[in-house]
Amino acid sequence: MPYEINWNQIDDVLLDMDGTLLDLHYDATFWLENVHRIVAELTGQSESEVRAAFLSELKQHEGTLAWYCTDRWAQFFGIDLLAAKRELAHLIRFRPHARAFLDALASTDMRTLIATNAHPDVIQLKLDVVPLESMVDGIVSSHNYGVAKEHPEFWRQLFAEHDINPKRAVFMDDSPRVLDAADRAGIREVIEIRHPNLAEPPRSTWKQGIDDFDVLLPSLTAWMRS
Ligand SMILES: [Mg+2]
Repeated sequence: MPYEINWNQIDDVLLDMDGTLLDLHYDATFWLENVHRIVAELTGQSESEVRAAFLSELKQHEGTLAWYCTDRWAQFFGIDLLAAKRELAHLIRFRPHARAFLDALASTDMRTLIATNAHPDVIQLKLDVVPLESMVDGIVSSHNYGVAKEHPEFWRQLFAEHDINPKRAVFMDDSPRVLDAADRAGIREVIEIRHPNLAEPPRSTWKQGIDDFDVLLPSLTAWMRS
């Protein structure tokens, strides 16, 4: 079913990267499987020991920048995390219709910004595979603001730095906590991406959302022609 947005009321399209534009299968495979095997091989611990230590550490930092900080995790695991992530780079890919959606947005006057919790090193690793920087007007990492997207201060800084009127913005993400924060920050249209990981079935964790961008294309292309 098409998802209706009144594009006349939108100046800025704000998009998450992992699980929204790109397939979360890459990140899930790395963080839930590969990293534990790599560390176990290096240290002689069992994979389940490594995973248990990781999960207990992770729990303490959920929703904070530390959770997303590759420097911190590299230190925690004692490995070259970016090199390990690069080994899986063949899994980095667009989600369905993401490319077509970005192409359509690029031919409008609306500004398209990626707003991500990914560390700048990880953003670069992904751009080496999928050149998102040439398809959008800017990429903002929450690491530049010192707070994750879950935090109201992220949105205050984002709106101020880029002169964004939240009442004329749309935001899409696959994390319910981030969607809540964007909603509280006053963004007009907040939309959950319900099929972030292409290796898993779609799921719904927020009050409104879409599986894929194809449902936005009819209203967008009709508005572009009008
Ligand atoms: Mg995401």
